Amino acid sequence: MTVQLYYQDPYLKEFTADVAGVVEKEDGFHVELDQTAFFPVGGGQPSDTGSIDGIEVVQVYPEGERVIHVLRRPPAGRTGVVCRIDWERRFDHMQQHLGQHLLSAVLENRCGAETIGFHLGRESSTIDIDRELEAEAIKAAEPEANQAVFDNLPVRALYPTPEEIAGLTLRKPPPVQEQVRLIEIGRLDLNPCCGTHPRSTGEVGLIKVCRFERYKGGLRLEFLCGRRALRDYTLKNEVLGRIAAGMSVREADAAAAVEGLRQELASRRKENQQLEELLLQHEAEKLLERAEDTGGARIIMYTFHGRDFDQVKRLAARTAEFPGVVLLFGAVREGRVQMIFSRSGDLQNLSMSEILKGTVSFIDGRGGGSAAAAQGGGNKEEGLALALAAALARVKEVLNKGSGITDA
Ligand SMILES: [Zn+2]
Repeated sequence: MTVQLYYQDPYLKEFTADVAGVVEKEDGFHVELDQTAFFPVGGGQPSDTGSIDGIEVVQVYPEGERVIHVLRRPPAGRTGVVCRIDWERRFDHMQQHLGQHLLSAVLENRCGAETIGFHLGRESSTIDIDRELEAEAIKAAEPEANQAVFDNLPVRALYPTPEEIAGLTLRKPPPVQEQVRLIEIGRLDLNPCCGTHPRSTGEVGLIKVCRFERYKGGLRLEFLCGRRALRDYTLKNEVLGRIAAGMSVREADAAAAVEGLRQELASRRKENQQLEELLLQHEAEKLLERAEDTGGARIIMYTFHGRDFDQVKRLAARTAEFPGVVLLFGAVREGRVQMIFSRSGDLQNLSMSEILKGTVSFIDGRGGGSAAAAQGGGNKEEGLALALAAALARVKEVLNKGSGITDA
């Protein structure tokens, strides 16, 4: 059996111990000490870390009445080995853990909600309660839990006899088979718990419920305590401050200002789209004015530079809405070349995808599409003029055949 020093003094940061046993396993050396202040993993809480004989302790777990420490190397010494707890981590765990006690107690006392799960995570912690509560209830519970912090209630561990237990009102009945350890928080709460706790609630610092969601018929609350809550406040203060400064409003008005901006953006986008449609319409008409009229169709061949490909595509679609039109567009932007071929619905004997397939190799590209519209991309800009010329020749050839006209 390992003597559990953390129960005698949860503030013990350094101690010496004798090595009671070392077992080499796949994940490291499993070391048993005669006594330890390393709190093992369990109850939703990760274990302590630190060092034994200067060697990093990566994990601590209970095994029956013993506590096992996992090290990368075996300790050199066997007696009077110096052990150090990563105190910042342990104290953080104590803050989150006692904060959970307070939140659970208030949720039970106020709302009759029982805590059925707890997880102490790396970033935040969660408690699961057995029923759904309104947001208002949670909002009201939070300041009450913090009031218990401000009241700086004493936290004590009690080891009552079975007879004494029978006379107590406990939030949760203790497991009967072992020595019962109760944690008493002032007059607020009395509950069985095997964890480590600060000596008073003031050390929790601050309790903040960040969010909550429906979970398995109840709720899962995510919360932060102590230094974690301060870090979160610092971050939020910084972020909100930047948003407010950027919007030139007070912090309290930042959300409304962002919402206003969002709505304005949506309406501007719509307006922009309408304007763009008008422009495309106008541009389509201009293009048609300079189309080559072959008799069978009006053909427009044009190369755009630096223009958004998607916009060129929409321009092609818009222009092809006019009857008897064939469009052979090239577009060059940032070293990329696109060919966008379209034709009006009435020119059924022309397959733009076929024409594209026959010419896209000039730009070292590939592509496809339908009979009415096809698109291909490549990166050989110097081949574009050739590709368009070949496409034009092919279009004329097909049109001439279709209309029964032959070349002279
Ligand atoms: Zn506890």
